[in-house]
Amino acid sequence: MARNLVIGNWKLNGSLAANQELLSGLIAENQSSQVPPSSVEFVVCPPAIYIPQAQTLLNGTSISWGAQDISNESRGAFTGEIATSMLLEFGCRYVLAGHSERRQRFAESSALVASKALAALNSGLIPVVCVGETLHDRESGATFNVISEQLEPLLAQLNPHALKGIVIAYEPLWAIGTGRNADGNTVQEAHAYIRNKLAQVDLASADNVSILYGGSVKAANASEYAAQSDVDGVLVGGASLVITEFLSIGKAFKS
Ligand code: PEP
Repeated sequence: MARNLVIGNWKLNGSLAANQELLSGLIAENQSSQVPPSSVEFVVCPPAIYIPQAQTLLNGTSISWGAQDISNESRGAFTGEIATSMLLEFGCRYVLAGHSERRQRFAESSALVASKALAALNSGLIPVVCVGETLHDRESGATFNVISEQLEPLLAQLNPHALKGIVIAYEPLWAIGTGRNADGNTVQEAHAYIRNKLAQVDLASADNVSILYGGSVKAANASEYAAQSDVDGVLVGGASLVITEFLSIGKAFKS
């Protein structure tokens, strides 16, 4: 069975003071909550420059941390990039790969996303590979083709034994940051499709891959996703910046 993950993507938000307040609140609430730490794993992905701060505050707690992006290169003349080995030095466990904002605003192709995810996997990080369709794709009936094309370059290169080391996040673009969340049935249908694609790589591991939903998740709608058989957690943007929201979302996923 896949483990439940609740990942907060802070995007371009935060400051030393705001992060301190948010993380201290998460730690305090998480320690006193009734959710057994093993039943749901909380992860925060701050802007890269704040990762050392997250490490200092979260070390020794049950909350993990990760990065929002990664270079597919390991070293050299790549100004502004950050390598997997650097994230590992600061205790990161996860890294997002191919968030739709990277695909759209920074023109990241599915081939590049695949090479980032493979670089992460090969170094011991867990890549959270994001896929999802636009509103136009959905309305024209192209949702599954789009998801398939986004996953293909990675799945074609992935050693079947490595499948269990990845996480997939289904994030329809029309639901991200719009307040318009997808309903539970729509999400379940997409997740089942993704799991079926993963099973074609390795049947035995497909059930163990966490498939997360992302798109305007908040405390008020989290249980609708938690009730779906192929939803193993959520990737949360805006609501991850509010302590009570993020923790309530996590509680919806306790097993
Ligand atoms: C995201 O950033 O991945 C996301 C899903 O954002 P939001 O929850 O704000 O829609």
